[in-house]
Amino acid sequence: MIIFGTKGYLQQLAMLTLVCGRCGNPAAHALRKKTTKFTLFFVPLFPFSTSYATQCTFCGAEERITREQADRMLSGDASRAR
Ligand SMILES: [Zn+2]
Repeated sequence: MIIFGTKGYLQQLAMLTLVCGRCGNPAAHALRKKTTKFTLFFVPLFPFSTSYATQCTFCGAEERITREQADRMLSGDASRAR
């Protein structure tokens, strides 16, 4: 019998001050990367999906962003990131 499945990993990349799209406050946002890995017999083999999101620490709103946006935020150019 072969046991396979997926496992999600959540990694916090940075804390950034952004103006929240929901509450409008210039609050700290956690930039997170979520990687889903394919597992065989509970051993993670390879990642097959990666997504990025920011979460407002003020109201808790989470927003999905693209990898490009995440890269731009990490390089410190948050003013042009949307
Ligand atoms: Zn907010």
